[in-house]
Amino acid sequence: MNRAHIGRFAPSPTGPLHVGSMLTALASWLDARASGGTWHLRIEDLDTPRCTAAAERDILQTLAGWGLHHDGPLTRQSNRTAAYQAALSQMAAHVYPCGCSRREIADSSVRGIDGPVYPGTCRTGLGEREARAVRVRVDDADIAFVDRLQGEVRQRLSRDTGDFVLHRADGLFAYQLAVVVDDAELGVTDVVRGADLLDSTPRQVYLQRLLGAPTPRYLHVPVLLDASGEKLSKQTLARAVGAADAPELLDLLLACLGQPATGPGTLPDRLQRAVDAWRPAQIPALRGIPAGPLHTQTSRQGVTAK
Ligand code: GLU
Repeated sequence: MNRAHIGRFAPSPTGPLHVGSMLTALASWLDARASGGTWHLRIEDLDTPRCTAAAERDILQTLAGWGLHHDGPLTRQSNRTAAYQAALSQMAAHVYPCGCSRREIADSSVRGIDGPVYPGTCRTGLGEREARAVRVRVDDADIAFVDRLQGEVRQRLSRDTGDFVLHRADGLFAYQLAVVVDDAELGVTDVVRGADLLDSTPRQVYLQRLLGAPTPRYLHVPVLLDASGEKLSKQTLARAVGAADAPELLDLLLACLGQPATGPGTLPDRLQRAVDAWRPAQIPALRGIPAGPLHTQTSRQGVTAK
């Protein structure tokens, strides 16, 4: 076992996996197995109103049916709030309460990389406002990292996002904080996920630095797009993937990743051939690629995970 490579897949259980999330699962599993590393599964069920036990069961069954077995115990973000709270306390010197409403922020802000750039209203104190969320203060320096596929990504958080939320007004911890704390806890060395998260990564690198956690290597694979160029998701009625779909879909997904077909054989044999043939440099270095037939051949209707 190669302890120098620890990967993970982190689905949100808001519905069954769809072809887009399966592509990410497959890429991260292949990357871990091809380097003799370990592969963890983390259920990102922080957004409790949207997450269901049925969706989690469905995801687990699908991954098992595909032969994508994970190492070690499954983790659930809903069990990890004490760790997120501890991380917030550790960053106490860099965080502050914010009393702004979503509307106030939208009205008074310029648009950044991922919604409005927080104008810093509560940086110097709440004044008359009541605390709603907790934000982290960002600085004016560039944050850059080199993605294994997408190349260099550079952001200046003060311009691109502003001080961002770590603890939300609805009482939930923010994804950006949870993912950093959890990847550090698992010792993740290689994050392989969809390129829709490329723009979140500098915020995560920033938090890693504040927490003294190492920055993993990143490989952001293209997301699958529907005919109108939208990312496949629950909202775009992406094709749900089940345990029985592996024989039919495996080579189609590998083709999206620029990998050779596995040909005939049993699923374990085909997966092993895919592991042996895994060449991440052949994945198209794009943020999105058309899903084509993967989207239109609907075998299983349903609400799918994002
Ligand atoms: N839970 C996220 C999603 O389903 C993935 C987060 C990550 O891989 O960092 O989009």
